[in-house]
Amino acid sequence: MAEKPTIPGATSVVAAKLGKLGLSRQADLVLHLPLRFEDETRITAIVEAIPGESTQFEVRVVSAEIAYRPRRQLVCKVADETGLLVLRFLNFYPSQQKVLQPGARLRVFGEVRGGFWGSELIHPRFHVVQDDEPLPAALTPVYPTTAGLGQASLRRLIERALNEVDLTDSLPVDLVEQRKMMPFRESVRLLHAPPPGLSAEALAAVQRPAWQRIAFDELLAQQISLRQAYAARRARGAPVLAGDGTLTRRLLAQLPFRLTPAQQRVWHEIRHDLIQPHPMQRLLQGDVGSGKTIVAALVMLQAVEAGYQAALMAPTEILAEQHYRKLAAWLVPLGLEVAWLSGSQKKKERQATIEKVGAGRTALVVGTHALIEEGVEFHRLGLAIVDEQHRFGVRQRLALKQKGFQSHQLAMSATPIPRTLAMSYYADLDVSVIDELPPGRTPVVTKLVSAARRDEIIERVRALGRDGRQVYWVCPLIEESEALQLKTAEETHAHLTAELPGLHVGLVHGRLKTDEKAAVMAAFVRNDIHLLVATTVIEVGVDVPNASLMVIEHAERFGLAQLHQLRGRVGRGAAESACILLYEPPLGETARARLKIIYENSDGFEIARQDLHLRGPGEFVGARQSGLPLLRFADLEDVTLVEAARQATEDMLTRWPEHAERHLARWLGGRAELLKA
Ligand code: ADP
Ligand code: MG
Repeated sequence: MAEKPTIPGATSVVAAKLGKLGLSRQADLVLHLPLRFEDETRITAIVEAIPGESTQFEVRVVSAEIAYRPRRQLVCKVADETGLLVLRFLNFYPSQQKVLQPGARLRVFGEVRGGFWGSELIHPRFHVVQDDEPLPAALTPVYPTTAGLGQASLRRLIERALNEVDLTDSLPVDLVEQRKMMPFRESVRLLHAPPPGLSAEALAAVQRPAWQRIAFDELLAQQISLRQAYAARRARGAPVLAGDGTLTRRLLAQLPFRLTPAQQRVWHEIRHDLIQPHPMQRLLQGDVGSGKTIVAALVMLQAVEAGYQAALMAPTEILAEQHYRKLAAWLVPLGLEVAWLSGSQKKKERQATIEKVGAGRTALVVGTHALIEEGVEFHRLGLAIVDEQHRFGVRQRLALKQKGFQSHQLAMSATPIPRTLAMSYYADLDVSVIDELPPGRTPVVTKLVSAARRDEIIERVRALGRDGRQVYWVCPLIEESEALQLKTAEETHAHLTAELPGLHVGLVHGRLKTDEKAAVMAAFVRNDIHLLVATTVIEVGVDVPNASLMVIEHAERFGLAQLHQLRGRVGRGAAESACILLYEPPLGETARARLKIIYENSDGFEIARQDLHLRGPGEFVGARQSGLPLLRFADLEDVTLVEAARQATEDMLTRWPEHAERHLARWLGGRAELLKA
């Protein structure tokens, strides 16, 4: 353990506050950049005060008294040669009151408001001015802070850091010149202490190259650290899974369809990874229904051909089970056994499977996170595939990493990741994308319908039911309460059952036992259930081609990715399909914007890109590695900058490794170590 770093000039109390801001070293203060500036370099005459502007005045106190209108407040009248101004304090200390004596000369700074009695400042900053006190020469920065840490002390510490910390560029001169970037020292100085006297636009223009430089550095640090983590894992060994193609050929021959060119391509990429002597670290992305499962099956067979085991793990029972059924349908005819492992399984059964897996008597295992629980030991795990990996917790992914330490890893996701995000937060993975859907799918028509027209929708369900088609009805997401969500689902089920006497209405939700859930799903697959009322448990993976209508209640409460996933449950067969987004009017502006995106786009990547624009990267990376630094300055919509950082990352790692280390130390400090795990 390294000695705890200290920040010169900070008491332990202040250091603790700084820690809350993520500032643990003096060098971190350099990168703690101002939110805005206040101009205390000038004095404005009271007559020239403009409402809404933050302004400094030099005044004399005329009077100060406590008023009660309606609540207790300190009202201080001040004046200069040109006019009168009111300073109003709703909270104040006796010490402040004491200073505000008639005749006292003050400098006050605050935002001017046009009040009933003339211009006023609410809670202005002020101090008694000394004779001949010079005006500050620089603008006053305002920093992000936390309760109990005042701007003045933060400013003092940061100013000191700017003088004491080594601001030597961490990038090689070649790179700085080649990209015509502003040097680091100049950039941080300009961001903390820009020249005074500029208009807001002029200031922004002057600082722009400095912000660009900082954003570039930040992206670069993130990518370097992720690439290093990638290289570290790559340095470990993994079995070469050179299959002889016997099983995969037989599977392909027996499939009722042919792989799409996109499936061929990603299969090839993964196949190639598996014959390397180091672990695969790949993410397979493909929109809902793009056909990831068959690719998973093929590469699992490659592991089996090579004499190893392969495991497939999914985040929910329903999903895992569906994979299990699909894999079994494809692979049992080839004479293979597919083992099933889940938490809700009978203990005896589970124990038997665990033993088989441990003894290597079964090569293929599908399951939930029961796969990585304690007590499960693989005999010879060669490949671990995780579906919808982002839905697993950090701890579970860590467990998987330990279990499959020496094995190849493939993550699959139907949540498309926008390109800039893939280049930044996902720089530690190779990415394969299935970018086309299998042929024969009919596009899904999306409709936005007010909940007031619910009866019309029920009519439509009735008509579809008569034609032998099937329908999903998704109940609202109620984030505050799972119990309430369940209640709503049960009520909806009762209501629809009463309204649709000719149809068999089923209900599936997260509280059902696994076998109950499975029974309902199986009935839906068999078309014994015509209308399936569900909570979001059906979100991913469910595959019933005969279902042609998806109704989503309170669509405005769902995330875009979720809506897209749900919509992807229909349009899987030849029938014309529709997705009806029921919303509760009136819609707020954001809700409207989001539903519009879903309504106008069917391409998951485009939806994801717009989602990134609307909500930022948090939603996509929330569940990624802990310790992954979030970007503070860089904007992932700046494709050019992200791309530039990606190229520079390669250069830094290959040509300038010492600079790369220095750069990481500056940006990530102690945290860089975390990422190498
Ligand atoms: P996802 O990528 O969402 O997991 P699935 O693997 O569940 O998609 O595939 C969706 C459906 O498409 C399944 O019924 C699957 O058997 C079928 N499918 C997969 N690949 C093809 C293909 N090349 N041609 C026709 N159907 C396919
Ligand atoms: Mg799937």
